Amino acid sequence: MIQKSFLVFICILSSLSLITGQEFQYRQFTLADSLRGSLRVERTSTDISFYDLDITFNIEEKSIAGINHIHFDFDGSSKTIQIDLFENLEITRIESKGKTLAYERIHNAIFIDAHTFSTEESNTIAIHYGGKPIVARHAPWDGGFVWSEDKTGSPWIAVACEGFGASSWWPNKDHLYDEPDSMRMQFTVPKELYCVSNGNLLEAKPDGDKTSYIWQVNYPINNYNVSFNIAKYAHFSDRYISLDGDTLPLDYYVLPENLEKAKKHFEQVSGVLEAFEFYFDKYPFWNDGYALVETPYLGMEHQSAIAYGNKYKRGYLGGMIPPEMNWDYIIVHETGHEYFGNSISAQDHAEMWIHESFTTYMEALYVEYHLGYPQVERYLSFQRRHNNSEPIIGPLGVNYTEWNGSDMYYKGSWILHTLRHVINDDDVWFGLIKEFYNAYKFQNIESADFFNFAKSYSELDLDNFFTQYLYRADIPKLQYRVDRSAFRNTLYYRWEADVKNFSMPFELLVGDKKYRMQGNSTWQEAKIARGDIEVLVNKFLIDVEEIEEE
Ligand SMILES: [Zn+2]
Repeated sequence: MIQKSFLVFICILSSLSLITGQEFQYRQFTLADSLRGSLRVERTSTDISFYDLDITFNIEEKSIAGINHIHFDFDGSSKTIQIDLFENLEITRIESKGKTLAYERIHNAIFIDAHTFSTEESNTIAIHYGGKPIVARHAPWDGGFVWSEDKTGSPWIAVACEGFGASSWWPNKDHLYDEPDSMRMQFTVPKELYCVSNGNLLEAKPDGDKTSYIWQVNYPINNYNVSFNIAKYAHFSDRYISLDGDTLPLDYYVLPENLEKAKKHFEQVSGVLEAFEFYFDKYPFWNDGYALVETPYLGMEHQSAIAYGNKYKRGYLGGMIPPEMNWDYIIVHETGHEYFGNSISAQDHAEMWIHESFTTYMEALYVEYHLGYPQVERYLSFQRRHNNSEPIIGPLGVNYTEWNGSDMYYKGSWILHTLRHVINDDDVWFGLIKEFYNAYKFQNIESADFFNFAKSYSELDLDNFFTQYLYRADIPKLQYRVDRSAFRNTLYYRWEADVKNFSMPFELLVGDKKYRMQGNSTWQEAKIARGDIEVLVNKFLIDVEEIEEE
């Protein structure tokens, strides 16, 4: 017992050291930013258990009208509770047990009078609202509704709101840390259209010239994953048999004109599910099934109803993977998110690397499973796109979304690849990622949860590694100089990094002789063979500088 609490003490100290000393200059954040991103008592006093969302679409007007019944526990510690809804949407009434509740709106937050709520039993409030949700200019990157049409001119409508916020179209507690345990969605659309949402279809209820589609999710779900997809969809099914013989239904909803193409193209889904099952676990949302839904934008990880818009091409719209590889980036990437993003979720948007870096690295694992390790390095050479202009982990508590580049994707994937080679034992590496996933699945985590797990599992001191790679913009630079004056060459080497006392191994080849050395911030020396030196930058994300002898 004593040793355990001593360990906990060390862990707390070391995670503190990781978050101190951020050097990057962020803009001044506003009240609106902290209302959206911070966890004050108006939020922490509630624990959401269930959302029951009911929306009717008016396609001509590009508007919606809806009610969300929010079920939650309340601990009594706050006079008001915060629910979020963008200020451009109108609230007509907020009620509980038939009584109207008082509320105040500040920016996109609603503060609702809490004095009638029970601390003994679950509470339910109903928020009646409506209006014209913001239209996305460039989905899925900027967020909002997409009002599109298929080739025959029929409506094709979808939403993407990651980062932007699910409160742009339905009232909810719009912070990543609190997911409902399950959710029901009812979407009412003109009867000639179909509506696909997350989870399982419970009922399609005809109502005059409209149909109400009622869907149910049986797992926790991130607010931004809740989606609708409205079109004249064609539907077909397949199934995936897991490595232990279980059957997972696969459902595909595509535009009718793409039905035959999709039937062939989506055959690759089983190989994706198999690879991820091998490295992590079975597909997480087993009872909700797996679905791909064709959308008018590129893609989004909508839980158990993945938005697919890669136009049945290889790679990313036909490119960005080695030309000899033939797999669909969106299927692999968004399916990866079912594990990192949807099953394991970040608690704060600033830590989206937990979603994106792991998922991007899962693309490399998919390649490794089917094509073997050498192809991983080949694939990663196509992901060498980091710009090192800002730290991957942003400031907490402000729903941070303002990264300039894609470092949380490609650089993040390379960081995990580098960590594998720092650990230098594939049994440990694959054990680490599998056990980490299984320890934290269906939970919201913070970066330190991974750091502490990796340090303890690998028995390595990785504090400086994580701080340099995730809280600093630059990557470490290996500086070396070679003295060729004697019979054997002497290599002098050190790391140049922002983090003090940075220490990490590196590898180099001289001819066919491989050396692995542990560098730190002071100059060290080693005898090496004569010949050209190749530092292995295919295994470590580092800069390399050879310093010429004077
Ligand atoms: Zn992603």
